[in-house]
Amino acid sequence: MSILIQNITAVNADDIIKGANILIEGERITELGTGIAGKADRTIDGTGLVAFPGFLELHCHLRDPGLTHKEDIVTGTRAAAAGGYTAVCCMPNTKPVADSPEVIRYIIEKAGKAGFADVLPVAAITRGMRGKELTDFAGLLKAGAAAFSDDGMPVAEDEMIIAAMKRARELHALLMLHEEDLAKRGNGAVHDGENARKAGIPGIPRAIEETMTARDIFYAEKLGTPIHICHVSTAGSVELVRRAKANGAPVTCETGPHYFSITDEKILDRNPNAKVNPPLREKGDMLAVREGIADGTIDAIATDHAPHSEEEKAREIEEAPFGMIGFETAFPLTVTNLLEPGVIGLTDIARLLSGRPHELLGIEGGKLKKNALADITICDINEKFVYNKDMVVSKAKNSPFLGMELKGRVCHTIRKGKFTYDRQAD
Ligand SMILES: [Zn+2]
Repeated sequence: MSILIQNITAVNADDIIKGANILIEGERITELGTGIAGKADRTIDGTGLVAFPGFLELHCHLRDPGLTHKEDIVTGTRAAAAGGYTAVCCMPNTKPVADSPEVIRYIIEKAGKAGFADVLPVAAITRGMRGKELTDFAGLLKAGAAAFSDDGMPVAEDEMIIAAMKRARELHALLMLHEEDLAKRGNGAVHDGENARKAGIPGIPRAIEETMTARDIFYAEKLGTPIHICHVSTAGSVELVRRAKANGAPVTCETGPHYFSITDEKILDRNPNAKVNPPLREKGDMLAVREGIADGTIDAIATDHAPHSEEEKAREIEEAPFGMIGFETAFPLTVTNLLEPGVIGLTDIARLLSGRPHELLGIEGGKLKKNALADITICDINEKFVYNKDMVVSKAKNSPFLGMELKGRVCHTIRKGKFTYDRQAD
């Protein structure tokens, strides 16, 4: 199949081509530039629209195998495609945990059959994510693991994280680290601040994130092992990464759209959909996250898409599980809260959602150019809409953004030359 996209603004991390035509034949972009003619099986008028290299999600939960009442690989990747993603990294906290080549292969095969997005499984660092024994890194890489993480169950013992960093260094594997001193969280459910006290909900102090961030930066620097810090949420964490980078430490990081869009005021009405880990912080943190995005301290935007059933999220906020869905709101929140206020420009969107994520994983993609894979996200950055439950493609509906007016929508997602999301044809 061939596709011709006409008169679009093509945006990469390092360039913008206005009035571009993009010709796609088979899996690849065969022409890109102004004044390109040609015929194709399907033509898209890109007037007023923007084309980005296909988005790559660094951090999500597809809940498959074993927790498919929340989400599964088919519904999850369909939702990812609707959010403009052509590839997603999924975290290993499934049932069983993705700590064996069998689970890694199962995920890749099921995603391949579904065809909505490439799924790049992140394998566990330790067996069962229990923090006691390293997994078989080499075997997991061979099976297709894209990186390693114990996500919500971060490795507590220093000896164990040192062993993991040494092994990762030997194998050129990337560690993705959720920074939290779990032993200190207790029954904390939301950010520890004025709003938690007003609502009478136990808090999670910033220090629980920041001390672990500092520890892992310390060892990464000492051992020379690249680490990627997940979902940075506090002003202090942003500053730790900024200083580490200035010192030349091999550290990168991501943040989630919720950390630059909303604050812990959202928990005042005890809405369980605003319960996420790390928790929504205060305005100063939100502004520091925006600053970190603008100055390049923060490499990527990752949603931490964490679906839960309505039943699970119907519990009181203290009892409800942590997490919110994120694929379908990431781009609109980026436009609404970063592009619109002038925190970043269009090329930064390409950098944060596609360019850097591809670089961090060392995989092909992340740039629109001749001969590149035809992974393309076509968006309308001016369209406004109210995000409501009926639009949600994910199996789960746990979003604190329901009912909000947002600006910026994904219109089409093309992965390897095929439409995986096509809004106007719905
Ligand atoms: Zn996490």
